[in-house]
Amino acid sequence: MDDAHNAPDQTDRIEELVAGLIPGGRIGSLVDGAIVAGTGETLHLTDPANGRVFASFRDAGQTVVDAAMDAATRAQKEWAALTGSARGRILYEVGRLVRANAEAIAEMECRSAGRPIRDMRGEAVRVAEMFEYYAGWCDKLHGEVIPVPSSHLNYTRREPIGVVTQITPWNAPLFTGGWQIAPALAAGNGVVIKPSELTPLSTIVLGRLCEKAGAPRGLVNVLAGAGATTGAAAVAHDATGLVVFVGSAAGGVAVATAAARKTVPCILELGGKSGNIVFPDADIDRAILGAQSAIFGGAGQSCVAGSRLLVHRSIHSAFVERYARAAEKIPFGHPASADTQIGPINNGRQFDKIGEMVARGVADGARLATGGPAGGALAETGGYFFAPTILDHVKPEMEIAREEVFGPVVAVMPFDTEEEAIALANATPYGLAGAVWTGDVGRAHRVAAGVRAGTFWINGYKTINVMSPFGGFGRSGYGRSSGLEALHAYTQVKSVWVETAANPPVAFGYTG
Ligand code: NAD
Repeated sequence: MDDAHNAPDQTDRIEELVAGLIPGGRIGSLVDGAIVAGTGETLHLTDPANGRVFASFRDAGQTVVDAAMDAATRAQKEWAALTGSARGRILYEVGRLVRANAEAIAEMECRSAGRPIRDMRGEAVRVAEMFEYYAGWCDKLHGEVIPVPSSHLNYTRREPIGVVTQITPWNAPLFTGGWQIAPALAAGNGVVIKPSELTPLSTIVLGRLCEKAGAPRGLVNVLAGAGATTGAAAVAHDATGLVVFVGSAAGGVAVATAAARKTVPCILELGGKSGNIVFPDADIDRAILGAQSAIFGGAGQSCVAGSRLLVHRSIHSAFVERYARAAEKIPFGHPASADTQIGPINNGRQFDKIGEMVARGVADGARLATGGPAGGALAETGGYFFAPTILDHVKPEMEIAREEVFGPVVAVMPFDTEEEAIALANATPYGLAGAVWTGDVGRAHRVAAGVRAGTFWINGYKTINVMSPFGGFGRSGYGRSSGLEALHAYTQVKSVWVETAANPPVAFGYTG
């Protein structure tokens, strides 16, 4: 749907939204409750729907990182001294404030990050739910009494880590911000979070809402800056007690290596190349719908995207034909239009990368069933519009079958047997997600057990929820940052031994 050319100039609207949500309307780092300017090079924010720069700011740099760490260190002590219920009430209030501002937050993220407004409205509510969910855990996070075989009372305490450094990517900044900040706070930590330099706005807003809800000033600090400078400085800072990194596999390796030098643990949530498997006994209509949300949701800029579609050979040709015709009907265009389901790619670099990978896929022998960079009026907008793309007859050894594209591009491969489908799904170093479509209950569970992935769907795709653990197997990362697992990951366990015997046995018999 080529409606982008009808959209008014968005620049003023973004400025208005930023001014409404960030006092002073200035873009910078949120440190100790104030927006502060960086000292590094000037970075630009670009509207993905027209390719125009709408704001600029300076990379935070070391001085701002130091100030953020100092603020988080101080505020964390105040935060951890509150009762669990007091912390819970504040997190619940964050959720209420996110709901109260949901429409403005959704529109700001839509226009600044290129995410369809219909997706963003739902996402803002999901973020409120994250704070509400963890609000309930604040007064239920406790250790255990262990029946040790001696005269001791032995118990464990789950203590906060202190300051947690979180680094997030550009594809779903609001969602990922809530996903990381809420459990870290529930466990009693202070937060220094660095969103992508391409999409810092919604995380700054979340930080502000935390403070408005009653969190101590400086408990949540947001660094506006680049990865190699500001991000690296935050990871290497002495105050960092845990690093949570969400991003590319290469970025994860760099960050985990730097953290390891300081003996700081990491949670890594990295990329994926997930397999979506369709058997002939599936409800084929539902499988076609599922295969669309698997890869085209978020214009494929999703870590769990079902970017490899494995279809049983007996239905392969007919399935791909229907799938391609369906993909061509998906409303595609300006993210602020109410009916748009696929918006632009977030940035020009990623747009070019997607085009190059598709071209190499075709050169390697894949058949372009539909898609490619948008033409016509959408192309003329200057925005980064890439149509839903299906590459058929892909071979497992091709780059397009192995490497993450992070765009609306699916690689289709036929298979003959259940064993082959599982082997194909596992023929990648990644292990983030996967799915199977079948009417056979036994097969569904066999395949779910056989595929190496941190999340797996049976007759569905893409549902995740803050209540459930999420994370990767293999090269997709380690650790979990949702569900109860995240709360535990954001604490460190202390074992306390209390002597209860009147005359306990002792190793030495001298009192001086
Ligand atoms: P990226 O790795 O380039 O950047 C991610 C973040 O890390 C950014 O904030 C960046 O500034 C920062 N960064 C980069 N190098 C750094 C360094 N040396 N030290 C500190 N910080 C550094 O990734 P991206 O292109 O922004 O995001 C896309 C990737 O994110 C995809 O691979 C996608 O699959 C992945 N992703 C994973 C999940 C998940 O939960 N598993 C979720 C969303 C996105």
